[in-house]
Amino acid sequence: MILEINNLSKKYGDKKALNKFSCKFTEGIYGLLGPNGAGKTTTLQTVSGLVPADAGKIKFYDQDITNMDAEKIAALGIAQSPEGRQIFGDLTVAENLKVGAFTLKDRKVINECYERVYHHFPLLKERSKQQAGTLSGGELQMLAIARALMSNPKVLLLDEPSLGLAPLIVQNIFKIISEIKKEGTTVVIVEQNALQTLKIADYGYVLELGEINISGDAGVLIK
Ligand code: ATP
Repeated sequence: MILEINNLSKKYGDKKALNKFSCKFTEGIYGLLGPNGAGKTTTLQTVSGLVPADAGKIKFYDQDITNMDAEKIAALGIAQSPEGRQIFGDLTVAENLKVGAFTLKDRKVINECYERVYHHFPLLKERSKQQAGTLSGGELQMLAIARALMSNPKVLLLDEPSLGLAPLIVQNIFKIISEIKKEGTTVVIVEQNALQTLKIADYGYVLELGEINISGDAGVLIK
């Protein structure tokens, strides 16, 4: 198993965000779906070490990464593209991408990551010297995904990649996500846009109030 979450629980004050939540990820695209406040973002943030879990276990290739330092988790091969994107607006596109490669030391690997990212997002190559703050919403989302890819991750966590974007742009981004999967990267997509996500996903988990409501093959869930 590539990534395994077992009985994960998290409270913010008295509010239960996750209640003994379990799920597993191998190769492919996974949709982590559910309404507002279901606990989707909390799941991603506990996996990437940005929020500590109260109980439960997260394993990456059999290594226990529960509550490990976020930088160490990134270096092991899990990258997150956060909701709201958090791009540095006063840096250029290329400089933002460089930030994403912070876990890598080998110049050759870094260059390969630039090539891979520019192959998937040619528009970012055209705009590599442009200040990121001047990009459109869709371009910013592409940059956020591209920046996460710059650490050459085995698992890519995407929080609401379709948020606030026009349908055609969402289609384009989802097509690129499918191509990224074909290169052997496991992709976990947190989305409220369930239908669109299930169209490209292999498997779906539907969360409600911090617990699994339904799960199954994407093709079955879509019906
Ligand atoms: P959304 O799509 O709205 O982001 P979500 O499924 O990602 O929803 P979470 O953001 O994980 O859900 O939130 C789960 C619950 O925990 C919600 O009730 C939310 O209000 C609460 N919560 C999340 N973060 C915090 C926080 N930092 N402090 C207090 N409560 C929080």
